[in-house]
Amino acid sequence: MKTINIERFKNMLLEEKKRILKNLKSEKEDEERIGESWSEPRDLEDWAHISLTEDLKSKLASRDISTLMEIEEALRRINRGTYGICEKCGAAIEEERLELIPWTRYCSKCAREMSR
Ligand SMILES: [Zn+2]
Repeated sequence: MKTINIERFKNMLLEEKKRILKNLKSEKEDEERIGESWSEPRDLEDWAHISLTEDLKSKLASRDISTLMEIEEALRRINRGTYGICEKCGAAIEEERLELIPWTRYCSKCAREMSR
């Protein structure tokens, strides 16, 4: 089994997280400050440490929330060393699929079965 480049996917996840949070910040900036303590992280690694507070959640569109939650979960799986493994059947998730959806939990076969 060929090993995937976790670092690359981790960066993809962090970039996406950053993008969503930045969107949120610029959208809401005029109306209200997002938490006084919310300062913009300087490097990508710092974005990994921002967690979703209830406050942030209430400001996000539901689609963005679910994506962010999936990203958080995926980052946790990277830390645990279970990233890229299907949660349903335990098989390795196809790299092409991870390219499209880096935070996916399931291989394409299980995802297809579940969407039925
Ligand atoms: Zn599977």
